[in-house]
Amino acid sequence: MSGVTEGGQSEQWFTRALKSLPGGVSSPVRAFRGVGGTPRVICSAGGAEVIDEDGNKYLDFVGSWGPLILGHAHPVLIQAVRDAAQRGTSFGAPSRPEIELAETIVASYPGMEQVRFVSSGTEAVMSAVRLARGTTGRDLVVKFSGCYHGHVDYLLVAAGSGLATFGTLSSDGVPEAFAELTRVLCLDDDEAVEMLFAKEGDKIAAVIIEPVPANNGLLLQRPKFLATLREQCTKYGALLIFDEVISGFRLGTGGGAEHYGLKPDLATFGKVIGGGMPVGAFSGSREIMKNLAPEGKVYQAGTLSGNPVAMAAGLATLRYLKEQHAWLTLEELGRYTEERLCKVLEKSPVQASLVRIGSIFWIAWGSKIPPRTAETINENAELHYSKVFHGLLKRGIALAPSAYEVSFLSLAHTKSDVDHLAESLADILEEIFSETNSQKMQIEPNELTRSTP
Ligand SMILES: *Cc1c(COP(=O)(O)O)cnc(C)c1O
Repeated sequence: MSGVTEGGQSEQWFTRALKSLPGGVSSPVRAFRGVGGTPRVICSAGGAEVIDEDGNKYLDFVGSWGPLILGHAHPVLIQAVRDAAQRGTSFGAPSRPEIELAETIVASYPGMEQVRFVSSGTEAVMSAVRLARGTTGRDLVVKFSGCYHGHVDYLLVAAGSGLATFGTLSSDGVPEAFAELTRVLCLDDDEAVEMLFAKEGDKIAAVIIEPVPANNGLLLQRPKFLATLREQCTKYGALLIFDEVISGFRLGTGGGAEHYGLKPDLATFGKVIGGGMPVGAFSGSREIMKNLAPEGKVYQAGTLSGNPVAMAAGLATLRYLKEQHAWLTLEELGRYTEERLCKVLEKSPVQASLVRIGSIFWIAWGSKIPPRTAETINENAELHYSKVFHGLLKRGIALAPSAYEVSFLSLAHTKSDVDHLAESLADILEEIFSETNSQKMQIEPNELTRSTP
């Protein structure tokens, strides 16, 4: 592992990128705006490591933001992609891997009978919500602040001030009229859910939630809160959508639904089910899915949907995970990571708590106890994190360039990789924070709000 090369090839490429790509990137959080500095331009990757254009190697806990549960360029996956590509990159017709991947999802996830494939998580969510609206004949959608569901117009809405009323737009370019159909509630607040349903229950098409909210820190929910959503949706005839784009096949075959013992009406997938290729999917009972075109009147389509190469990658990933009993291995490594990092954080001069579920972990900087809502994440989290982030990067370890992004373990990570992370983190905490320790940076958790990611 080596450090940064200033003025090297990677930096030169990024300077070029800034000319032809807005912000130098194809997706905003890659741009390092949350931590400062210059993104590395990546040349290749293998196992738990990414290599930049200068040949610097980084132990990677980003995992392409979730999909790479096998690690980078796993030989089994690469072979599957090669074989599939040789048979043709796209048919615009049904193909075997698509059918087999659908069967795998149906057999794995609670309550699902049919699947439709799309090319991203955003598309999966957008289509699932349309289907929910078409099925119920209602317009309102309920979401939670701190959950991310892709960049769908009417979901780029943050909690407004005051109680559960209209949301406020979190992106320019979204008409106000779209936000009027979205209700935004705080996570962890059963009463707010019940009040909203009591008031507008007959207009609510769907409640969408990440059962394991992992896009704004890792905001693990009380099982009772998720059960309340199930209960209220059933009572008022609204559909419950679990957005499992991160958690699907990451936590086990049944995602957050299995973990909490709940059955949503619709589920959305992405990330892991594509093994690093662009894949999304949504699923539901036959009763609901029959409303989709061509059987029903809810239109939804895609030129590259169910792409045979992408399907082969997803299928190879899920099969390998099952064959290897990978979730047990990942849980064990997750537990080890938790132990090691907790020990380091105990001695941290800044309050910090480790949150983990399976192979997903996150450090809540400035918080003594893990926050359950976006609103209770410490407002100084970003300040602390940027120091940690750059300290790690210098030591050849890549975490996501944002305090609000989680880290991922993969089958390619080893205990000694985790040791390396823990030791480096201990070093950094000592080095950076003991300098300022004379002022004793004790940060109290506070209630300030932050906008959505
Ligand atoms: C990543 C993510 C999305 C969006 O998926 P894209 O493939 O980036 O469009 C939606 N929902 C959740 C929960 C996600 O983590």
